[in-house]
Parts: sequence; structure tokens; C-alpha cells
Amino acid sequence: MSAPAPITKLIALDDYIPVVGAAEIEEMRALARRLGGRTVKMVNSTAVGGGVAEILNRLVPLMGDAGVATRWEVITGGDDFFEVTKGFHNALHGVPYEPGPQVFEIFQLYQQQNLSQMSFEEDFVVIHDPQPIGLVAAREQRPGHWVWRCHIDVSKPQPQVWDFLLDYIKRYDAMMISSPSFTRPLPIPQYLFYPSIDPLAQKNQELEEEFIAQTLERFSIDPKRRILTQISRFDRLKDPVGVIKAYKLVRKYADCQLVLAGGGAQDDPEGGQVLAEVREAAGNNPDIHILELPPWSAMEINALQRASTILIQKSLQEGFGLTVTEGLWKKKPVVASAVGGIPLQVIHKLTGLLAHSVEGAAYQIRYLLSNPAIAQRLAENGHEHVKENFIITRNLKRYLLLFLSLSGAAQ
Ligand code: UDP
Repeated sequence: MSAPAPITKLIALDDYIPVVGAAEIEEMRALARRLGGRTVKMVNSTAVGGGVAEILNRLVPLMGDAGVATRWEVITGGDDFFEVTKGFHNALHGVPYEPGPQVFEIFQLYQQQNLSQMSFEEDFVVIHDPQPIGLVAAREQRPGHWVWRCHIDVSKPQPQVWDFLLDYIKRYDAMMISSPSFTRPLPIPQYLFYPSIDPLAQKNQELEEEFIAQTLERFSIDPKRRILTQISRFDRLKDPVGVIKAYKLVRKYADCQLVLAGGGAQDDPEGGQVLAEVREAAGNNPDIHILELPPWSAMEINALQRASTILIQKSLQEGFGLTVTEGLWKKKPVVASAVGGIPLQVIHKLTGLLAHSVEGAAYQIRYLLSNPAIAQRLAENGHEHVKENFIITRNLKRYLLLFLSLSGAAQ
């Protein structure tokens, strides 16, 4: 059975008035009213781990509170399915990939299996990422508006996988992408949708200094020495080993510690292997803290981000990089790779520093460590940039506008 995803806590749109103002919230309620009781279903492939689950956990209850009944369901699959879809994920990011003979069959089999267990009574169905893309077959039985929300940088996909998915993509009403650079030649419209963070979620809310201190103590991190941190699933595309290499270069000149913290996601089978590679690269260096976090670590991640001197996101490929958004929101200096949606957030020398290599990342980190006043100015700018563009209420508003436009209810 496809599982209804857990929703952590009741949240209300009015809670966001102090963040975005009452007028913005009233506008959203007005847009929701125009949808006149129409309903929404969101489908993805993991309830925890990764940016999509992070967003849906907050967006779904907020949509409900705005007056648009929204269900979130998570598809199921065996290890064989998630190995295939992880291969697809990497291939869409442009990583070389040789699909074996059964790959496409396994994918289709699980689409059928999930289809037979789900029903789609809603007016709008939003399918997130490639894993559940084949559910679009259900629209043949019942009319409704179907959109594919692609969170991946598909600007240079491996053609075999892209062509296979294209047959599904064409059956949607629209595709939503995270950056203008991800557009593809397609017969359906493509809409730009920035991902978002929730400033009121445990992951981003203000924390007591005492909790931050306790978290450092729990993980044996020295609060008196500077801390560089990358929070990410242990995934090769997040380049944790590259982070260690950059850290080692920095460490020759500046005293600091490194924290690599992350857990897994239900739909990512490669985590254990990558973690082993990371541990090997770290050796027994006592200044490199590799933290394997369980899925309920939002407060700990928040504390680690807040305790850090610099946040790193040295991804080789990236959809958007919510960890960057989270860091900027917390007014932290960020050094990140110029890939995927990251340059939309880190505007070089304005809201953070971009890098293109291990050496580049090390150089930018050293620069910020030596120039704390500049680092702080970038971080303050970063916070404003996030507030303006990447807050969850913005995301909600765009969804409401999209639904209105698809249903013809917009004026
Ligand atoms: N995250 C988490 N636990 C972890 C690693 C990451 O909760 O162990 C969160 C992180 O704080 C962020 C999201 O998962 O909110 C990752 O989103 P991002 O867009 O950076 O990367 P993705 O994992 O979706 O590729």
C-alpha cells in the first residue's frame, strides 16, 4: 500500500503573519477561496530525508489551513526499484549510467503496483520527481490536472533515461522546475517554482544558546574552535570526500574543525556505501566529526548550523540545495558549489561565495575565516535574499496560482 506520509505538527497560515505580513496571508486565503473546494494530492517517494520530504511536511498542512484539502502519499517499492530510481536520479544529473536490460521493466512494474493501490479523486495531482512519474497513467480513468514537479537539475540528462521518462512527462499538463537553467525542449509548459524553507519549523526556528551548547557537547565538538559544516545525505553528488579534501587544505593555514552530518532517505540506497568512503577519507582525524543522524534530527541540524562558523555545500550536482537556504536564513556565511539551483541563492560576493573545485572551496573558506566582517555582511544579505524569495508561503502562493490557472478559475 502507498503510505500516507506523516505530518509533524499542526501549523497555521496565521503563524506566518510576523514573517511575511498580514496582507500576504490574506491574499493567499483569497486565492484559496477562488479554488472553491478543489482538492490536491501530492505524491513522492520518501516521507523523510531529503529536500522534497522537508518541503511537503510543511507545505501540505499549510495548504490545508489555507482551505485547500491536500493529501500527501508516498509510493512504495523494493530495493530493486530504489536502486533503479537512484540510477535515474544520477543519470538525470548527467552522471554516466549504463541501464541494464531489466531497469526499465523494474521501473514500470512498480509504477503498476502503486497504481493498483492508489486512487486519484483529487482535482490536482502533483507528482514529485521521477520515482512516481508513471502514476500519470491514472489520469486516463478520471479527469484532473496533473503536474510533474521535477526537483532535479535536468539541463544535461543522460539521453536514455530522459527519453524513457519523456513518454510520461508529455502526459502531464505542466512541469515545474527549480531554476530557469533547467528548462528542456518540451511540448508542455514549464513553470519556475523555487523550493522553500519554513522559518517556523524545528529545523529553522530560533534556538536557546544552551541547546546549541548541549548539542556540540553531545557530539564532542569543541565550542571554542571554529567549525566548518556540511549537512547532507551521504551521497556522492554532495561530494563529502571533496569537503574533507578542502578542509585538509584549509587546516594547513587555519585552526578549525569539520562536521559532516547527515542521514539517509528511504529512497536512497547508496548512503551506507558513501558513508564508508567518507569515514575512510577522514581516517582517525579527531577534528573531523562524521555524524550519522536519525531522521528526527531537525533540532540537532538546526543547532549544528547555528554553531558553525561557515556552512559548506560542495555538491557536484544539485537540484536546489535547501541546506544552503537553511544556512543563509540563519545568517551564516556559506561557501557552495556553483551548480544547479545554488547560484540562485548564493550570489557570489553578495550573499555568499561560490566555488568550482576543492581548491576553490578551500580558498573561499580561508578568505571568510580571515575576513569575519565580510563573512557576516554576506550572511546578513543572504538572510534577506531568502526572506524575499525562498520562504514557504511564497511556494504556497505559487501553487495556488498554478492551480487557479490550470483550472481556468484565474482571472
Ligand atoms: N537533511 C536532514 N537530515 C539529514 C540530511 C539532510 O534533515 O541527515 C535535510 C536538510 O536539512 C535539508 C534537506 O534534508 O532540509 C536536504 O535538502 P537539499 O535540497 O539540500 O538536498 P537533497 O537531499 O534534497 O538532495
